[in-house]
Amino acid sequence: MAELIGAPFGALLRRMIREHEREGKVFDLPARKFWHGAADLDTSVLFHGRRASSPVGPAAGPQDQMAQNIVLSWLAGSRILELKTVQINDRLVLPRPCIDATTVGYNVEWSQELRLADSLREYVAGSMLLDVLKAENLLGLPSDRLKQDTILDMSVGYDLAGIRSPQVRAWIDSMKDARTEVEALRDQIPDDLRRWRDLDFTTRVSDQITLSTFHGCPAGEIEGIVRFLLTEMDVHVTVKLNPTLLGQETVDGLLHDVLGYDEVRTRAEDFDKDLQWDQALEITDRLSEVARSRGRTFQVKFSNTLVVRNHRSFFPAAEQVMYLSGGPLHVITMALVDRYRRARPEVPISFSAGVDAQNYADCVALGFTPVTTCTDLLRPGGYGRLPRYDALLGERMRALGAPRIGDFVVRAFGRGEEAVRAEVSGGPARDALLGALATGGDLLQAAAGGDPGLYDRVVRRAAVLNTPLGAARAAADPRHRAEKNRSAPRKIGSHLVLFDCINCDKCIPVCPNDANFVYETAPLSVSYEHFRVREGAVARIPGGQFVARKAHQIANFQDFCNECGNCDVFCPEDGGPYIEKPRLFGSLESWTALRERDGFFVRRGDGGDAVWARIRGSEYRLEVDRARDRGFFTDGVITIEVSHRERRPLGAQAREGAPDGHTLDFSAYLNMALVGDGVLDLRRANPVNATTP
Ligand code: SF4
Ligand code: SF4
Repeated sequence: MAELIGAPFGALLRRMIREHEREGKVFDLPARKFWHGAADLDTSVLFHGRRASSPVGPAAGPQDQMAQNIVLSWLAGSRILELKTVQINDRLVLPRPCIDATTVGYNVEWSQELRLADSLREYVAGSMLLDVLKAENLLGLPSDRLKQDTILDMSVGYDLAGIRSPQVRAWIDSMKDARTEVEALRDQIPDDLRRWRDLDFTTRVSDQITLSTFHGCPAGEIEGIVRFLLTEMDVHVTVKLNPTLLGQETVDGLLHDVLGYDEVRTRAEDFDKDLQWDQALEITDRLSEVARSRGRTFQVKFSNTLVVRNHRSFFPAAEQVMYLSGGPLHVITMALVDRYRRARPEVPISFSAGVDAQNYADCVALGFTPVTTCTDLLRPGGYGRLPRYDALLGERMRALGAPRIGDFVVRAFGRGEEAVRAEVSGGPARDALLGALATGGDLLQAAAGGDPGLYDRVVRRAAVLNTPLGAARAAADPRHRAEKNRSAPRKIGSHLVLFDCINCDKCIPVCPNDANFVYETAPLSVSYEHFRVREGAVARIPGGQFVARKAHQIANFQDFCNECGNCDVFCPEDGGPYIEKPRLFGSLESWTALRERDGFFVRRGDGGDAVWARIRGSEYRLEVDRARDRGFFTDGVITIEVSHRERRPLGAQAREGAPDGHTLDFSAYLNMALVGDGVLDLRRANPVNATTP
């Protein structure tokens, strides 16, 4: 099975800086998609008492398991990043493909696929890369300092025994104090980037956790885990709750009667064995109290994905259930939040369910912190879709005359006056607030004349008052209905091959790990001959015509690709870019380990390049002496000397004892030459040439 492998820290750092300097992008995200934040608006929020410059970020999922994901997410505007869930069982074998974003969004993936130690390394590396970005001031605005406050939120799962295990405890401790890991990565900064070696990197990477539990986890176990995290691990905690809390009848009513997803079927057992409503209220009451007594904070997150029957053919048939996200989950979760807030209006809520640019501002108006997204970022544009979230929020804030998030919450649904009257019974502060509301004045300033905390109380009250309106608006939004979400991305009927395609480049941003990339090559159309052993000598025999028409080519970096299948969904051609396009490995070790896959390993050395290739299961090696323009291409039996620039064979010889009739396919050399030269070309940054100074 393909495994994710993080890139060397030096290669990540070099690529990030070089790609930005030379091409105006970072990990394939163009600078025009970087989030700058509006200078006239303060979109900052408090999460567990710490400030983040924006409430938005990726939900624990495919967008935050590798270092480059963290960078991409941050550049596009994320300021609260829920890192992908880690657990004691870090040797999972997940079904592939595992993400189906063709319509509303389903998945069968769940936790981090990296080992615990590798997750730690990726998260610390990501945090260090953010430190470099901030020091480098890539955003280039005078207001930068205000827009850079970032929170990394750990996510752990899934049961008490695993979370209490020495390995997971040590992992959490290492995130709270990452000095050892930071120093190890600092030592990997190569000479050409030495100016970054002295940076004062963040060592307290995170001190807060979102807990994810198995479906069916008993209430007592959930409570036990949160107690353990609050008291023994001394972290702030968010507990993620399931949409099953709403009850099967209500969920089915929303899915079928309101939204029209008749084909989506829930199972009674998933509702029966999950946390029940009364239990949820009881444990959140007790845990809020435990947190208060420990000087920590506690909140809930709505929601997990919804477990439903696997009625589609996308995932392996052995998967009986799959997990629904996207628009329908948004409506269900809004209804759940509405119900929960009526019962426990004081508990802070983190929200993640079908969030996109269109509904993000409403989520912010309901006072959720953070507001995280996942499925939407799997669609064309990927992380580059995030800046629009903030742009639309900014438009709404300006239209309401709200300079900051709190003012926006109070004004967004027209419930501000009610909120003020509920929180302050009379006096000058109330008059000032009502006056400011009526005249478009600054609410924070108006509240300053009241008692401390008045502004925050009015904002919280307004958020609660907004909730039923927000839930009703979500349910009435035709975008979330089944008929609007039936059509899959269009396919054009052609099948991908190693070189050339329609070059739409959709496969690049839709990959959460930036595993697909563009490389340039000189187009080539040439007749070639094969080479065959005959009585100890090598003879030429008829071959074929090799054609690579386009300069712009696509490749896949295997070490970053977990074969989730998302790029296949959005590629207009059939076959899947991650399957059909050249698969580049990050090391000879990983190329050797995955013998069941074709692919290339390319290495640039002093004066020479080396390419290892597996093509239709046969292995080849190419050594290129660039100064002499000579290449030596072999399958271990026949070796051909070539003029590498001309892609022309000069001579061939067979090893001693070569079997008669053995044939070497010269097109393999042409494949290796185009791929090798293309990916090593420094004019286009990619994960392969990032290792070249
Ligand atoms: S591989 Fe598919 S998605 Fe990628 S550029 Fe080619 S046609 Fe577009
Ligand atoms: S390259 Fe495609 S299959 Fe691989 S991780 Fe990226 S989106 Fe998933």
